[in-house]
Amino acid sequence: MNNRGFPLIISAPSGAGKTSICYEVLRKVEEAEYSVSITTRARRSNERDGVDYHFVTPEQFEEMIGRGELAEWAEVHDNLYGTLKAKLSGAVERGKVVVLDIDGQGAKSLKRSYPDSVLIFIFPPSPSALQERLSNRGTNNEISIRKRLKGAPQEIENVELYDYVIVNEEFEDSVEKIVHIIEAEKCALERMRPFIEKYSEELAQKNEDKEHSQ
Ligand code: 5GP
Repeated sequence: MNNRGFPLIISAPSGAGKTSICYEVLRKVEEAEYSVSITTRARRSNERDGVDYHFVTPEQFEEMIGRGELAEWAEVHDNLYGTLKAKLSGAVERGKVVVLDIDGQGAKSLKRSYPDSVLIFIFPPSPSALQERLSNRGTNNEISIRKRLKGAPQEIENVELYDYVIVNEEFEDSVEKIVHIIEAEKCALERMRPFIEKYSEELAQKNEDKEHSQ
């Protein structure tokens, strides 16, 4: 069987409910693994270093770029964010569905280097729902909310890149949809090639053995 996994990229305008959806998908899908990004952003009080992000200084970030350690990186809302190449490739090779919570720029460059990536874009039900969620979050100040709302139209422009679009009306429904997408993607013809090849080889061998025994 094909033991190779694939990157599952999930993007959304900030405040669409993406982070909680990702956590629940990770809880439900055994072979799913979260790609912990590195960032220069300040840690929020509810975040853990090494779990939600690897928090680094701008100097450390630059050094990692210089050493070619990042599969992609981007500047989002004045902070730098990036994906560790070795971790991602290693997990995909081990058969993991690697969940990446990254923005459109990151999605675009990862799709180039990992063409079998699956890209999902999550919409909040409406722009006013987005504003409400950002204000209720309690971890953003007014300036940061304004910045995030301003960035949303640009994030939405990138939607053409994506394979699937989910409107996050009901949390559980959105999670289920992603779980189903993962199941369907595992059956995609290209991912099943190793099985088909092995099947054909065994079939050919069987026919050969039969011919010899006649
Ligand atoms: P937040 O600061 O709210 O955690 O994330 C802000 C934005 O950065 C989100 O859109 C998130 O998807 C994006 N982001 C997080 N990690 C990465 C990453 O490694 N690469 C890229 N390109 N974007 C990221």
